[in-house]
Amino acid sequence: MTLQQIQAAFRDGLYKITLHARQQMIDREIYLEDIKRKSKETCDYCGGTLYPQIVNLEFRVKGELIMIEEVPADVCNRCGEKYLSAEVDAGVERLLQNEPQAQKIITVPVFKWRSVEP
Ligand SMILES: [Zn+2]
Repeated sequence: MTLQQIQAAFRDGLYKITLHARQQMIDREIYLEDIKRKSKETCDYCGGTLYPQIVNLEFRVKGELIMIEEVPADVCNRCGEKYLSAEVDAGVERLLQNEPQAQKIITVPVFKWRSVEP
């Protein structure tokens, strides 16, 4: 199955995806999407329109949640998917590889699913 066939199957609701697989797809797709996007300004997932914005990106690196703030990206106005240019993606890759000192550390509220069920 090609990546495109997998994407189409998700769009058609034939499959659900694990969060782990989702991040892997995001990591791999960003660059592919950027190449495809050169000929269009619409979202590959939902057909929405992409607008340039400054966003925060979250990744898991070696099991640790990290955030990169103030990243330029094109964001879908319907589903919120973020598209990075190849240039920005390369910058993210450099940052992840060089592991510079974090600007700040934030705390994140964590909930158990049990506690939100009625
Ligand atoms: Zn979309």
